Amino acid sequence: MPHLTPPASVVDIARTLERAGFEAWCVGGAVRDAFLGIETLDWDLATSARPEVVQRLFRRTVPVGIRFGTVGVLDHAGVLHEVTTFRRDVETDGRHAVVTFGASLDEDLARRDFTINAIAVHPDRLEVRDPFRGRADLEARVLRCVGAPAERMREDRLRALRALRFAGRFDFSIESATWMAIVESAPHLGRLSMERVKQELDKVMAQVARPARTLERYREAGIFAALVPALADVPPARFAAIDHLPHRPLAGRPGRIVLRLAALFAEPGVAPPRDLERTLKALRFSNVESRLTIDVARALAAPEMLATFEGDAVALRRWVADAGRLVVPSALRVACARALADGAIAGGAEAHAWQRACVGRFRRLHRRAMAIAWRDPITLGDLAVDGEDLRTIGITDGRAIGETLRRLRDAVLEDPALNTVEQLLACARRLP
Ligand code: ATP
Ligand code: MG
Repeated sequence: MPHLTPPASVVDIARTLERAGFEAWCVGGAVRDAFLGIETLDWDLATSARPEVVQRLFRRTVPVGIRFGTVGVLDHAGVLHEVTTFRRDVETDGRHAVVTFGASLDEDLARRDFTINAIAVHPDRLEVRDPFRGRADLEARVLRCVGAPAERMREDRLRALRALRFAGRFDFSIESATWMAIVESAPHLGRLSMERVKQELDKVMAQVARPARTLERYREAGIFAALVPALADVPPARFAAIDHLPHRPLAGRPGRIVLRLAALFAEPGVAPPRDLERTLKALRFSNVESRLTIDVARALAAPEMLATFEGDAVALRRWVADAGRLVVPSALRVACARALADGAIAGGAEAHAWQRACVGRFRRLHRRAMAIAWRDPITLGDLAVDGEDLRTIGITDGRAIGETLRRLRDAVLEDPALNTVEQLLACARRLP
């Protein structure tokens, strides 16, 4: 099993622990990913050594989560590896657990959430410890709780969200008792902080290649009704559209994640978008995320043009001016993704041809819109005249200047050729 071999620095750390008389095993996500054939760098170790011992055994450590038994050990290259003491939960409250050390490897594996996350591999001997048949579930592509699902979800409600994320990320089915426990958890998810919920949503957007199915599961389980009512009743195309946004490669492309969030939440035509603002605030959206989502929502309120991806130059120029140069590409991507999702739901062979035509029309509109955005005068700042120029012709009142500039901008949106000092001043003189 060559793909199971952890990096040399992890093996070194494990050997140091074992030489001192402790057990050391690779556990968690890296082991799971290795069995799935996915490259991974984040190898975590579990050990019988207590945290203070781990701190003593290694020269460079970071107290990552000492209370929970986790010490970060820095290898020669300065890369941090988490080393966590075997532990057992003594008390849980729906999110946090009080843990004790002095547990065995099997006890440590038993407190893990899903069978696929509860496999251990010995870094030297490559011996596998898999008491919950995680490998069989990986093989069968099933997500299943370790132990009794309802109880495990009661201990920590976050597991319901983690379950949906892992199932989506690996395209696994969800074992039926585990699914029932997720549904049962939904009304209790208020136990989680909104920061946590948002973090999970971000991870779904970052880790799940095509998240529509995962979002549908959130809805089916009643999780949106409990946590994000704004998403409980949206049309299916809203979720499906996210699968049609560009998604590869997602790693290192935070902009793509923000676009996915915007596509998920942007309710077209809400102006002023107070409900939307409230929803995003409740979910602790960052300013950048909120801004884009609200701007995209506003821009999507141009139904004719975005439904057909056609429009005359003046209409397109007005739309670009209202949307804002920087918002146009995002708004068009979301509009196209939603149109494609609508087409896909209609289904059939014709749908395929229709989708290709749709993408073609979208590309043309995108090219035209970008040319307008970066070539034509569309903002007050693009005008050939400013307030000082208007003063020279006797318009001195601040409000009148603002109003005149806006009307001149409307005129150049109709006809960009008007954007010269002489023509605009002449035009300003003629305005009533
Ligand atoms: P990722 O690749 O997303 O990091 P991961 O499996 O490593 O996936 P982590 O959140 O890093 O996930 O957690 C590491 C391991 O700790 C998990 O594989 C699981 O065994 C255990 N674990 C994490 N969170 C929980 C939880 N809430 N309940 C039980 N076990 C958990
Ligand atoms: Mg991890």
